[in-house]
Amino acid sequence: MSVFESLAFAGHEAFHAFHDAESGLKCFIAVHSTARGPAAGGCRMWVYENEQAAIDDALRLSRAMSFKNAVADIDLGGGKSVIMAEPGAPKSPALFEAFGRAVEALGGRYWAAEDVGVSPSDLAHSRRWTRYVAGLEGHPAASGDPSPVTAEGIRRGIALCVRRVLCSDMQGVTVAIQGAGHVGGYLAAKLASDGARLVITDINRQATVDLAARTGARIVAPDEIFDVDADVFAPCALGGVITVDVLDRLKGRIIAGGANNQLADDAAGRAMFDRGMTYAPDFVINGGGIINVAAEIRALERAEALDPAWVEMKVSRLMQTLEEILDRSVAERRPTHEIAIEVAKTRIGAAKKPPVPPGF
Ligand code: NAD
Repeated sequence: MSVFESLAFAGHEAFHAFHDAESGLKCFIAVHSTARGPAAGGCRMWVYENEQAAIDDALRLSRAMSFKNAVADIDLGGGKSVIMAEPGAPKSPALFEAFGRAVEALGGRYWAAEDVGVSPSDLAHSRRWTRYVAGLEGHPAASGDPSPVTAEGIRRGIALCVRRVLCSDMQGVTVAIQGAGHVGGYLAAKLASDGARLVITDINRQATVDLAARTGARIVAPDEIFDVDADVFAPCALGGVITVDVLDRLKGRIIAGGANNQLADDAAGRAMFDRGMTYAPDFVINGGGIINVAAEIRALERAEALDPAWVEMKVSRLMQTLEEILDRSVAERRPTHEIAIEVAKTRIGAAKKPPVPPGF
């Protein structure tokens, strides 16, 4: 394995590996860019097939965080951490304490928050060793679980796409949600209250049963979600789900959901555009959660309480940016994800400053 020659590493500032023998922690922290501020991005805990898969995931996700944070116009760069979970091994406080020491070792170049497999209570253990964790609970600056704000942004983004494509509000619109976890769960509840019809799936059957009981959603098997008669497909599980083959199966014209790195490759993004489908780029529509985390970091740095009005202002502005990207896609006849990457790269480029020696 070569890090420097790996395509996923391109553009990264740094990549770190940490091991703690006592707790069993094996984690990677990727720092893509600190041009706009300290790198920030969630910590994912997952059973990876092998080390390379974990490395690639950290690198791909940290690059996406740089783009997401730039598009959300928050003063943070992009980074991501992944913890390699052992199959069947329970999460332990010691493991998350060791993770806290790893984050602290970076001296503030990276702020961690929750992602798949990690909860605020896990990160509370990390907080004993570093102040560079956000998404916590129980103090005035705490922002808690970012998922409800992520879901709120996606709800508004879906409504925007539906208005543009179907000239309709959400009443009676069918949304197929893949993943009934944190984001998928909050999103389903919000869309149900907007009058949408829901079809849901998850590899965790019980999660779908519980969510269906709360929202009236119809449950389908994981592989059937691509074939249902839905206006909107909302990926809210893991990445890489949108392939050309999946596009052949989808009946609706809108793809808008919370999962990170939804496109399996650029060809899938191009194919979506060529078929006249509307794609809300993942790192644009799912930026609500990191805005919430940024509000906590901002409050901690200023020794203030969390400011929900700032969060609302940033989420509203993000929806305007999404609309601008959709407009440009039509005007310039280019896929939305290409335009979104261009917007992000322009903002990151504008923030880059030459390094200054510390002067000792
Ligand atoms: P989560 O772990 O709570 O939920 C993910 C769900 O997807 C789980 O219930 C899991 O069983 C299910 N799943 C996994 N593979 C599946 C498959 N093949 N088919 C159907 N279901 C499958 O995670 P989450 O916090 O809800 O995050 C979901 C996605 O959104 C992730 O890609 C995450 O990176 C992204 N995201 C989350 C946030 C946030 O605020 N939590 C913010 C931005 C992006």
